[in-house]
Amino acid sequence: MLVLRPNCECCDRDLPPESDLARICTFECTFCADCTESVLGGRCPNCGGDLVRRPVRPAALLAKYPASTERVTKPHAGCADVLG
Ligand SMILES: [Zn+2]
Ligand SMILES: [Zn+2]
Repeated sequence: MLVLRPNCECCDRDLPPESDLARICTFECTFCADCTESVLGGRCPNCGGDLVRRPVRPAALLAKYPASTERVTKPHAGCADVLG
């Protein structure tokens, strides 16, 4: 089951489970669409894999299978501009 992390690892923007702006890699490194397209060039900076749109978990199932609340942020080379 997907962890559904609550934020972009790069710019720390909130990415709620229903967001269509969330992008993930095969290890569930999680980024927003802006960082994916501008800073990261569609590749995960941690593993080099594809970043794809994260599927939205239906709201009715979120109660039973809640999203993660653990925020993960990691400064990447390409993210330095965003993080400052
Ligand atoms: Zn971002
Ligand atoms: Zn990754």
